[in-house]
Amino acid sequence: MLYTRLEGGRVRCNLCGRRCIIPPGGRGFCLVRENKDGKLFSLVYGKLTAFNVDPITKKPLFHVWPGAGITSISTVGCNFRCLFCDNWVLSQSQEIYGKSFTPERVVELSKRYGAMGIAYTYNEPTVFFEFMYDTARIAKENGLFNTIVTNGYMTPEAVKVLAPYLLAATVDVKGNGNLDFHRKFMSVNDVSPIYEFLLELKRHGIFIEITDLVVPEYGDKLDDLKKLVSWIIENLGPEVPFHLLRFMPDYKMIDHYVTPVETLMKHYKVAKEMGLKYVYIGNVPGHPFESTYCPECGIVLIRRYGFDIVEYNVTKDHRCPKCGAKIPIIGNYVKSNWHWFSAF
Ligand code: SF4
Repeated sequence: MLYTRLEGGRVRCNLCGRRCIIPPGGRGFCLVRENKDGKLFSLVYGKLTAFNVDPITKKPLFHVWPGAGITSISTVGCNFRCLFCDNWVLSQSQEIYGKSFTPERVVELSKRYGAMGIAYTYNEPTVFFEFMYDTARIAKENGLFNTIVTNGYMTPEAVKVLAPYLLAATVDVKGNGNLDFHRKFMSVNDVSPIYEFLLELKRHGIFIEITDLVVPEYGDKLDDLKKLVSWIIENLGPEVPFHLLRFMPDYKMIDHYVTPVETLMKHYKVAKEMGLKYVYIGNVPGHPFESTYCPECGIVLIRRYGFDIVEYNVTKDHRCPKCGAKIPIIGNYVKSNWHWFSAF
């Protein structure tokens, strides 16, 4: 899907902002899309590397069906080369592998284990677009919702195709969106596709939550954070949930250090003072700012501990029970009627 035939048997892939031009026999930057005689093929269709049912909080999606269980699926491949990737075994694999699944099987197992939706995640879902698209359509027909956890590099034309089946997206920004950080640590030379992607999601009414991986020393500048937050407020509004994630050493940055909680707190303070209403601190289990507070009167609306919801105080019509402020939440709290499950 989503490619253009060019002269000399070459093709241009229009799935992500890289827009690779691929010669006959060649593969795109993600290594999972191949030009075979002038046609572009996905090499990972139905080749899953994970199928897990676990809490929606883990995506993270804090404002969508709180308490729900959700299926997470992935393949191999990625259009980024993050040196700190915590799913690098999948995302950076040079080899194509995976267990055979059909979209129908993904939906059937999801329903069997009580998942309310499907998240396309772990590696970048853009690179398995065709399987995601087919699964999302069938999932929606079966009453399940669809969400993506993405680096935000999908093109606007790809968003347009997927949008009718998509409820929400978790968009993972890294290093406060700093371009030099993207160049040096992620092999990404242009961050503008991420902003175009966010605007396209908004145009289609997809619910957005944004994460920002704060990498100590290299991707933790408060000036960058201020630029990012003011762009979000101006273009998406102050109600977008914003998660400041603690960096954990992994892959080629295994020797780097975890983000100090004080650094995350400085970020939290800036984001709140600038006007974002729902700011969270992630990857610090038990931290008070993994809970949701009413932006008007300050009471705890959703108290979390790690991936668990331990208290839920939002009315059925999504208001604060004390002051009546409207809270942006899709769906209502669902007590766990799903089962942790892994098919691998
Ligand atoms: S999805 Fe893969 S082949 Fe297509 S533009 Fe992105 S990196 Fe290139």
